[in-house]
Amino acid sequence: MLGQMMQRPLLISDILTYGAEMHPKGEIVSARTEGDIHRQTYAETARRVAQLANALKARGVALGDRVATLAWNGYRHFEAYYAISGIGAICHTINPRLSAEQMIYIVNHAEDKILFVDTTFVPILEALKDHLPQNMTYVIMTDRAHMPENSLNALCYEELLDGQPETIDWPEFDENTAAGLCYTSGTTGNPKGALYSNRSTVLHALYVAMALGVSLPQEARILPVVPLFHVNAWGLPYFAPLMGHSLIMPGGALDGPSLWKLMEEERVDSAWGVPTVWMGLMGEIKAQGRKPGSFSHVVVGGSAAPRSMIENFEKMDVDVVHAWGMTEMSPIGTHGTMPKWVKELPFKDMIDKKSMQGRRVFGVDLKIVDEDGNRLPHDGEAAGELFVRGNAIVSGYFKNDDASKGAIDADGWFGTGDVASITPDGFLNIQDRAKDLVKSGGEWISSIDLENAAISHPGIANAAVIAMPHPKWDERPVLVAVAAGEDKPSLEELHSHMEEHFAKWQLPDDVIWVDELPLTATGKVSKLTLRKIMADYKLP
Ligand code: ADP
Repeated sequence: MLGQMMQRPLLISDILTYGAEMHPKGEIVSARTEGDIHRQTYAETARRVAQLANALKARGVALGDRVATLAWNGYRHFEAYYAISGIGAICHTINPRLSAEQMIYIVNHAEDKILFVDTTFVPILEALKDHLPQNMTYVIMTDRAHMPENSLNALCYEELLDGQPETIDWPEFDENTAAGLCYTSGTTGNPKGALYSNRSTVLHALYVAMALGVSLPQEARILPVVPLFHVNAWGLPYFAPLMGHSLIMPGGALDGPSLWKLMEEERVDSAWGVPTVWMGLMGEIKAQGRKPGSFSHVVVGGSAAPRSMIENFEKMDVDVVHAWGMTEMSPIGTHGTMPKWVKELPFKDMIDKKSMQGRRVFGVDLKIVDEDGNRLPHDGEAAGELFVRGNAIVSGYFKNDDASKGAIDADGWFGTGDVASITPDGFLNIQDRAKDLVKSGGEWISSIDLENAAISHPGIANAAVIAMPHPKWDERPVLVAVAAGEDKPSLEELHSHMEEHFAKWQLPDDVIWVDELPLTATGKVSKLTLRKIMADYKLP
């Protein structure tokens, strides 16, 4: 027997309508590409989003059309998100750090009709335009006074809005209608598109609200360093209006000093981003001798948060929420908002818990399996490939049957490519990406664990471990490190620092010093590039 309840579609347009009504004074503050700070409330934002949606409709944008963005975090990017998916079109966010080849591939693959672009990225498009769809309409996200000369025959964003009605009756359609498109950075082969729906996006926003809501102050001021151009900035643009949190958008200035200043001036409570960004901020906190005034909460994910970073933040009373997820999961899968009993643990034990990737959000099921696909126990010991299942997880890839085929197992679970264990109390412990594990003499060594131990040495600012081929042991770990100062610790010194946590055979065979580590388009250390750089390297 079915329940007798109304069937109302879960639509993204309802999120902003709710936010504007219930939290009209919630703010979007943006460090603009024009060079100033811009502020508007959710109530004002809803009016501008209606104008943009009306403008898109007037230009013939219809259900299912792809409309792309190539932009920093800012209010106009946020407006594009809501206007595009509100009318049933698909917001395709493009990562500006992709290679030219990848960008050409995804824009053509997505068949984008309109492309919104920040002034900063106009030269990128000018260089590529001959390879992009020829009927594309470009819109530069600025006002007339700041329109750059360009060869794109581009429209001006503010002129597009001018004169359009400030209200709109948002159309109602099937909640499974596609709403967003984000391509994975594609470390192998062409990028693959995750196609989010209205339903998955609204549910993900609710999951995040539940998971992180309790660890944030009410009406918090949140800094998304995590970009709107990659996996919906971890769902923040959808979660914040629901809860009345303000968003402080950093634009393109993501270095430590710029972030510190913005956080101080805008009284940021909570900041979200990948570990490499927080290394920059930590440097500035040291230089200033204090953290930004209101800063009390940080969400770290995208790659493993080093234990020493978690310790340093916690010592300055910044609550660290270590989260794990992926593009294919909208993205959040697990989070480190801690139950009371963890907060009451001795400091070291609490850090042990926070160093893991947290517990699953409601709506995401986890399983780990051995090489034959048999389920492994959640005993904190057994490690295997992690599979996930849920309402905000892809069931395949956009227009890509080949990649879709291998993505889901016979029981309907998505294979993450991560190797993990899960403790009896539900904490996920990511050991590595399967392809980054070091296989030495038939035993696995976690590169994440070695990196964590190395980074905790005061002489090391950042480090990555990669596997190098070895005639006897198959592979051996090598540490590639950035020195924190003039004095570089020797390999022996590093070994004695690290050996407490490892067997001798697990320690790296060599340390190579570099000025900086190569980063991927999403700001993570690119092991693929490192392996290429190290192609001619011979183990000692
Ligand atoms: P890409 O970087 O390829 O665009 P994603 O951003 O989707 O892709 O990255 C997802 C992957 O990042 C995960 O499968 C995992 O390997 C890694 N990852 C994300 N968060 C964490 C974390 N907290 N700890 C360790 N690894 C993480």
